[in-house]
Amino acid sequence: MKKSMLQNCKACEKEISRYSLFCRNCGHPQGSMLALWLMVLFLLLLVAYYIAFCIYGMTLVE
Ligand SMILES: [Zn+2]
Repeated sequence: MKKSMLQNCKACEKEISRYSLFCRNCGHPQGSMLALWLMVLFLLLLVAYYIAFCIYGMTLVE
């Protein structure tokens, strides 16, 4: 059993999975905010792409 699979919550010190973004016990966001930021960035890109596609589609219709 590798100990690195677990980490302690920064807020309540309870052992939680290393890969969970939030503590199951208290809901405190954990460790790598990088994953969270990547998710936000991906969503922003998706929205930007959608808007660009809509505008491009409108100009094609005219
Ligand atoms: Zn916690």
